[in-house]
Amino acid sequence: MTNPLLPRWDTQFQIAPFDAISDDDFAPALEQALATHNAQIKAIAENAQAPTFANVIEALETPCRELDQVLSVFFTVAGADSNPAREALQRDFSPKLAAHFSAITANKALFARVAAVWDARENLDLSDEQQRVLMLTHRGFVRGGAALTGEADARMQEIKGRLATLGTDFTQNLLADERDWFMSLSESDLEGLPDFLIDAARAAGAEKGEDGPVVTLSRSIITPFLQFSPRRDLREVAFNAWAARGANGGETDNRDIAAEILQLRQERAKLLGYDSFADYKLETEMAKTPDAVRGLLMDVWGPAKTQAEADAEVLTKMMVADGINGDLQPWDWRYYADKRRKVEHDLDEAELKPYLQLDRMIEASFTCATRLFDLKFKPLDVALYHPDCRAWEVTRKGKHVAVFIGDYFARGSKRSGAWCSAMRSQAKFPEIQAPVVINVCNFAKGEPALLSWDDARTLFHEFGHALHQMLSNVSYESISGTSVARDFVELPSQLYEHWLEVPEVLAEFATHADTGAAMPQEMLDKVLGAANFDMGFQTVEYVASALVDLAFHEGAAPADVMAKQETVLSEIGMPQAITMRHASPHFAHVFSGDGYSSGYYSYMWSEVMDADAFAAFEEAGGAFDSERAKALEDNILSTGGSQDAGELYVAFRGRLPGVEALLKGRGLAAE
Ligand SMILES: [Zn+2]
Repeated sequence: MTNPLLPRWDTQFQIAPFDAISDDDFAPALEQALATHNAQIKAIAENAQAPTFANVIEALETPCRELDQVLSVFFTVAGADSNPAREALQRDFSPKLAAHFSAITANKALFARVAAVWDARENLDLSDEQQRVLMLTHRGFVRGGAALTGEADARMQEIKGRLATLGTDFTQNLLADERDWFMSLSESDLEGLPDFLIDAARAAGAEKGEDGPVVTLSRSIITPFLQFSPRRDLREVAFNAWAARGANGGETDNRDIAAEILQLRQERAKLLGYDSFADYKLETEMAKTPDAVRGLLMDVWGPAKTQAEADAEVLTKMMVADGINGDLQPWDWRYYADKRRKVEHDLDEAELKPYLQLDRMIEASFTCATRLFDLKFKPLDVALYHPDCRAWEVTRKGKHVAVFIGDYFARGSKRSGAWCSAMRSQAKFPEIQAPVVINVCNFAKGEPALLSWDDARTLFHEFGHALHQMLSNVSYESISGTSVARDFVELPSQLYEHWLEVPEVLAEFATHADTGAAMPQEMLDKVLGAANFDMGFQTVEYVASALVDLAFHEGAAPADVMAKQETVLSEIGMPQAITMRHASPHFAHVFSGDGYSSGYYSYMWSEVMDADAFAAFEEAGGAFDSERAKALEDNILSTGGSQDAGELYVAFRGRLPGVEALLKGRGLAAE
């Protein structure tokens, strides 16, 4: 019998034949697919003909159908519907796939052919998109170290290996510090804590073998403890333990590890010909330079700090009213902010939920796409990997656009969070390939299923990513859909969240599950007000972390990370009652791996853009302005990575994004 993962699927819309695939099929199919792909790469690298765009770059762009099919099915079920067999397969596949793809980048014969096409680019008469794909392919090899030879090459391999080890050590030390610390509470220490927290503290105590409840550094305990405990002395002890993670001396101390990581990153960037690691890292981003990142962060810093200082005064008065004199401290902020929130934004989640029915919210997300982009959604009857999954055919003017799959409910076999992925990406080379896109969420089941406000935002967010995949209209798969710069990829998703807040959308779709009544305006105002609460604090702790991250990777690496952190914070005048969101010894985004190193800013960069982009609709006459919708599709949703992100944004907006809309949205704009 043939392995159902390998032959071309002749199913409706070429959707994977899930009901024919068993877990035993994955391992042999992957072996076969990797062999096929290796043969494909070998043929390109060892081709006797002179290198051309067609026989090198387009040959690399030609999908390995077998590998694409195996990986798309495997990663879908491994993430959304795992089991012990699939977990074991994943442990086996991860290093195999990493080795497979890094061997391609390290293939010197292949790189020589890519470089030859790159050197001849002026004379090749390529389209803009082809030039872009050539540039990205060449750059990817160079950045991976393919152009290095001899000693430099050997040193690069050494650095990569050492960095991988240090990243793992950093993570494990952090986990050890979080796991080992706890503080016992007496029964009287529990006064003022909500029931869910008392239960969690008792359960944690039992787990540690203690007689009574304990506070641990698990986020689900420490954060509410700092928020709810009226005992200032206990909050101080707990906060200091939380802040000291990774900096406790001894075997789990991360400070020297962080310094070595920064040094090696800097050396790696130099070997590749960059002035600094930040220059290397930002080259592929929309921001491009450290100065652009700092400019944006500092534009936000001033107003955020002003707001935080004003908030600190209010909170200090509340503290004085409690009979405590002296300065507001970091262990006081969350406690008094929560007291203030209860007074100013009394929002009852239980009252809100009946207005947010899952099915109505799905309808809302579809209807917005119909009004903006003329997309139609028709339920599709097809066997998928789990009975909870639903599918729709997406069409425009009667023509097939994509298949959209929604897998909305939480279950034990699904990893946490929410995500969007393309089981097949849009492409036109070497043949038309219509996308199959899936949104996976973790909403609670119910009759009917009801969402929280955050859930509803998540639904719109992931659907924004799905639109980026489904409306993609490029030739080559490597630049299709969401294959864009990291600081650009959240623009379509975060932008789409804004349509959830459009009053006419809520009036139509946020209707009460029992009465059918629309959500009252007063409730909506509370929801939106609560979303902006304490933004001065949140923005300050975030921007401070982003600025420290950037400073670490610019110029020579600091020998003492704590001293460098201190310098940056004192230069910007960090308010004394607020600390960095992630201090260096536990800044996992930056030190556990390379993902967000000198890239922590990108969350805010995207938020600046989504606020600024939605303002373009408002300025043009409303959320459903058809000209703006067309400009959004033409310049951002259909273009993938076919052009520089900054150029795409300017084509949509007429200028680069400004921070005004974000400041207004966060309630930080000057009155
Ligand atoms: Zn996202």
